Amino acid sequence: MTEAAPAIRLRGLTREFGSVTAVDHVDLDIVAGEFFSMLGPSGSGKTTVLRLIAGFEQPTSGTVELFGSDVTEKAPFDRDVNTVFQDYALFPHMTVLENVAYGLRVRGLGRAARLERARAALAAVRLESLADRKPSQLSGGQRQRVALARATVVEPKALLLDEPLGALDLKLREQMQVELKQIQRDLGITFIFVTHDQEEALTLSDRIAVFNAGRIEQLGTPRELYEHPASRFVADFVGTSNLFDAQLSERLLGHAGEHSIRPEKLRLSAEPDERVGMRSAPGVVSETIYIGSGIRRVVDLDSGARMIVLEPNDRDRGVRAERGDHVHVSWHDADVVALTPVD
Ligand code: ATP
Repeated sequence: MTEAAPAIRLRGLTREFGSVTAVDHVDLDIVAGEFFSMLGPSGSGKTTVLRLIAGFEQPTSGTVELFGSDVTEKAPFDRDVNTVFQDYALFPHMTVLENVAYGLRVRGLGRAARLERARAALAAVRLESLADRKPSQLSGGQRQRVALARATVVEPKALLLDEPLGALDLKLREQMQVELKQIQRDLGITFIFVTHDQEEALTLSDRIAVFNAGRIEQLGTPRELYEHPASRFVADFVGTSNLFDAQLSERLLGHAGEHSIRPEKLRLSAEPDERVGMRSAPGVVSETIYIGSGIRRVVDLDSGARMIVLEPNDRDRGVRAERGDHVHVSWHDADVVALTPVD
């Protein structure tokens, strides 16, 4: 075991279920202390990768290393990781404190030491005042935090989280995203987070692996994935993109090959924008959607393409374009992203 070993190293990891290849030769290094997300549509294999890391699932081929040692053949309880499931799986008849202390009891720790460590774990998720309640007397967000305390109290080196915020409503989910990030920073544990929610992954992660059909389609920081998606799939799955095939790219954007451009990089004006580096195309507004913080418009270009334009809801925005109005859509050439075709 070396200092420099990554928290998790996957090599050639493959899992087949009959004729389905759920995970297809995945190579991945996750750095210690990282908040790492696996993002992808339903069925892309991210949960299976998480289960392979936890040891709930055995690979068809390939290896799993945790902190420099090969654990491929080891049982889940012999791996220095813990899992938080979406349904939390709390014991209803135990108090919050007992739920958190449970994992320590199983490990044979004395009662006093158990309760002291459980209290500290509850304090880390800001729940010490609710220690004597039963899970049924808690809100969804509080239950989520109990599950986190219960998973971290045994001091795993890495925490695996399978859509842990999936059961929460939007407002609470956003609140818990901030808390989760703070808790991870405070504890300094490697978090491996599975989600199909691209916004959640962008908000929380140091790095993200985007999964598609059992493979990692792109690996990078949220900014890299958003600003430089490497394929049509990533451009489309992470955020919203205007996608142009090779023919349209050539004609409209003046670039050879497939390209994309984000809606918020586009502007509307009555006249073409003729400043250096800018390009414009005429069209007609076919839809105006008010979304509070911004206004989204669909513009059918005279060239036949369709663009989604997102402008901030501020006083300075260019034109008050309504459905049926003739406009020019403008963009800076530097905001056009080349998409490398995938095999
Ligand atoms: P979701 O977001 O819906 O959970 P996911 O990206 O996590 O999806 P997985 O659960 O890893 O995807 O599943 C990947 C593929 O493997 C799917 O096609 C799924 O049907 C299949 N699969 C997963 N577990 C099994 C199993 N135990 N038996 C058979 N097929 C399975």
